[in-house]
Amino acid sequence: MKTTALLLSLLFLVTGGSSQSLKVYISVDMEGITGLVHGDQVGSDGKDYGMARRWMTEEANAAVQGALDAGATEVVVNDSHGSMRNLILADLHPSATLITGSPKPLSMMQGIDETYHAAVFVGYHPAEGTTDGVLDHTISGGTVASVKVNGVEMPELGLNALLAGRYNVPVVFVSGDKAVCVQAKKILGDAVVTVAVKEGIGKRAARTLPLKKSHELIRQEVKKAVLQRKSMKPYTLRAPYVFELTFFRSSQADQASVIPGVTRLDAKTLSIRSDDPEVGFKFLRGLIMLGTER
Ligand SMILES: [Zn+2]
Repeated sequence: MKTTALLLSLLFLVTGGSSQSLKVYISVDMEGITGLVHGDQVGSDGKDYGMARRWMTEEANAAVQGALDAGATEVVVNDSHGSMRNLILADLHPSATLITGSPKPLSMMQGIDETYHAAVFVGYHPAEGTTDGVLDHTISGGTVASVKVNGVEMPELGLNALLAGRYNVPVVFVSGDKAVCVQAKKILGDAVVTVAVKEGIGKRAARTLPLKKSHELIRQEVKKAVLQRKSMKPYTLRAPYVFELTFFRSSQADQASVIPGVTRLDAKTLSIRSDDPEVGFKFLRGLIMLGTER
C-alpha cells in the first residue's frame, strides 16, 4: 500500500498535479452582449429587456462551456450588470454556480480569490468617452467622467483586472464590442484573448455578429484562453495605488468630498491612495455612491 501511495504521489508531481482543480471565474456584464445597443434592452424596465437577458444568459453559457472544454472543474458566474439580477437561473449552464444580486462588496468581481486560476469577462463595454464605443460608460453613466489608477485611464475591465491581479488571477479573455477589445489589449497586453461580437457605429448602433456565430466563437476562444492561462500575467500596478475619480459635475464632487482622507484635485476630481487595490476600489465605489445625484 505504501509503495502504491508513493508512486501515486510521484506521478502527481511529474504530471504537475494535473488532477488538481481548475477554477474559472466568469464576470458577465450586459452592454457588450451580442446585438445589444440600447437602454431599452439593458435597462430592467426596458421593453426589450426580457429578450436581452435571455441573450445574456446564452452568451454566459457559451463561456461556461468553453471553460469546461478547457478542463475547468469549477466555474462561477457573477452577474455584473445593473441590479445584478439579470441572468436567468433556470437557463444557466448546469455546471456553473451563480452569484446574483446587489450590492456586493466587490461588485463585478464578487467572489474572486486566490483559489481561481483564470478570470473571464463577457459582455463588457468600453470606458466613458470612447468613440464608437457601444453604451460606453464607467461604473455609473450619469456620474463618472473618468477613473484613473496611477495615471492609467481605466475602463471597468481594468479595475476588475486589478482586483483579480490582487489575488494573483490573470484575466485571460474579454468579449464585448470592438472598442472594449482594443482597450483590453492596451491595458492587459496582447496575450489576452478577445472576441469582438459587434462593432460600434456610435454609442447606440452597431454592426453585430449573429448570436449563434458569437456563441461558437466565445466557446472556442474561452477554451483557448483558459488553456493558455499560464502565459498570462496577473494585472498589477506598483503600490501605492492612486485612484483619481472625475465626476461630470462639480456638485457631485462636492457631495463626495465630505469624506476625510480624500484629496480634491480640482472642481470635479477627487483622489485617494492605498497600498491595497481592493481598498482603493471600495473607496472609489463609496465616493461614486456619495457623489450620485438623484
Ligand atoms: Zn453593465
